[in-house]
Amino acid sequence: MHELSITQGLVDAVLDRTGERTVTAVNLRVGTLSGVLPDAMRFCFDVVSAGTPLAGARLWIDEPRGLARCRTCQGEFELPDLILLCPCGSADVEILHGRELMLMSVEVA
Ligand SMILES: [Zn+2]
Repeated sequence: MHELSITQGLVDAVLDRTGERTVTAVNLRVGTLSGVLPDAMRFCFDVVSAGTPLAGARLWIDEPRGLARCRTCQGEFELPDLILLCPCGSADVEILHGRELMLMSVEVA
């Protein structure tokens, strides 16, 4: 479960910056193509934040859906997985959204 190491890194990075201040919420953006499962991340967050100033913080996860643009027909289409194939048959496709794995903000008490 690589969510555990990702979440550990996230908690460490937040603690680095917020120190002893109590963090009440963490806002993340985790795209549906990022390879990270938000539910697994929520579980890991509870585990790794225990005993730190982040314990009990709410974890908000925005999950942008995959969106791609085809360089052949210029069409944009939803991308449910990492099979980069436009409905027109071209695989010359650029991912616009969905791979995000970003910390957007935290709220401190
Ligand atoms: Zn196309």
